[in-house]
Amino acid sequence: MSDEKKIVIVPCSGIGKTYGTVSREAAYDVVEELRPDESQLVALSMLVMGDESARAAVDGSQAITIDGCKLACASKMVRESGGTVAKEHAVLDAYRRHKAFKPAGIAELNEGGLQLAHALADEIAVEIDELLQKGSVEAAAEEANHA
Ligand code: SF4
Repeated sequence: MSDEKKIVIVPCSGIGKTYGTVSREAAYDVVEELRPDESQLVALSMLVMGDESARAAVDGSQAITIDGCKLACASKMVRESGGTVAKEHAVLDAYRRHKAFKPAGIAELNEGGLQLAHALADEIAVEIDELLQKGSVEAAAEEANHA
């Protein structure tokens, strides 16, 4: 799959915050393990710095964002960079859904944090499938309309 059609995953860059680390762990899990051919990671810090290739990857793409707090930097930057936030996640909400996985640690997550990240990554992988499926159904419908 070309990069243009990949779903962009943007985790927050909350350094020194447990939820920020969970967001990045979940993002790596998605792009490296679960959906490597269907998704690509764009670093929030690169968007903030106005990096050309990061902005180009987001511009016109569908993105799934993972934020570590209410300031929702990842979601805001994707919108400011011309992307569409197809799904917006907050680590706190994920924790509310998976209370058994209490995250702790910053540089290195505890077992609960890793499990929370993996649970969130699983949810995002399903969303990627749904977004791509929806995209191909819409493309087929458009093609039929122009036939
Ligand atoms: S969303 Fe919150 S934790 Fe993440 S980069 Fe922004 S301020 Fe930091």
